[in-house]
Amino acid sequence: MTLMISTSSASGPAISLKNVRRSYDAVTAVDDVSLEIAAGSFVALVGLSGSGKSTMLKMINRLVEPTAGEVLIADEDVRAIDPHVLRRRIGYVFQNIGLFPHMTISRNIAIGLELAGEKEGRSERVAELLELVELPQDMAVRMPHQLSGGQQQRVGVARALATRPGLMLMDEPFGALDPVTRDSLAGQYKALHEKLGLTTIIVTHDMAEALYLADRILVMEAGQIKADATPTELLSGGVGDEAEALVAIPRAQAAHLIALGQTHAEQET
Ligand code: ADP
Ligand code: MG
Repeated sequence: MTLMISTSSASGPAISLKNVRRSYDAVTAVDDVSLEIAAGSFVALVGLSGSGKSTMLKMINRLVEPTAGEVLIADEDVRAIDPHVLRRRIGYVFQNIGLFPHMTISRNIAIGLELAGEKEGRSERVAELLELVELPQDMAVRMPHQLSGGQQQRVGVARALATRPGLMLMDEPFGALDPVTRDSLAGQYKALHEKLGLTTIIVTHDMAEALYLADRILVMEAGQIKADATPTELLSGGVGDEAEALVAIPRAQAAHLIALGQTHAEQET
């Protein structure tokens, strides 16, 4: 069965953060961040645990309200947008996706449409979304526990895309998966991002994943952006100690693997 995939419906918005701050009592989770994200970008937020990545992401979809400053999506202040409307315009994917255990995959995917009162064409949309995330159609009638972790995370992506958002916020979306599944899902998501013309912001603590996926990497530390660079710029160095410390890890791993390969080759000859 070939389904028509609508590629023109979603087109990612630009995002703008102006002097955004968020405090929790004595802790400043995000400390006066100003940032312009161009429409259609794939941005990775990288940094150690506790650096403020999740807080920054959640201020964009209003799961967290800023203590100060403002967040604009396509030049519109998010505070002026009804939260229900906002949630439909923004897809949100997080680690351990939390599918509803007693609902079929189909209903899990369509829950956003159901909540929005959209009755027409729901099953067609589910079929289209399953195809988009490369899951077989017969998964629709299964229950979440009958799927692998990787398959469940695909359902999470499908659910986030159901309302045709232009913006996707992803918080460690592939963090709980084995490396092979993680790599293939990340690669497939990148292709989806391009095909649908989305704006994507992904939080990851894995610099290798950020370098592979994003066209712009923001390195956070203690609530501030310490580096803002393309993968190529990050790899060529000179963008600050925080970024260098994170890039050093995949670089050292790659060097180690190459050295192992050479030793192995020498032993063979
Ligand atoms: P990251 O996603 O980079 O690990 P977070 O944004 O979750 O960082 O957290 C940044 C800082 O804010 C941490 O010090 C964390 O303990 C604190 N924090 C986050 N959420 C809350 C909360 N709901 N209540 C109190 N402190 C919080
Ligand atoms: Mg986090």
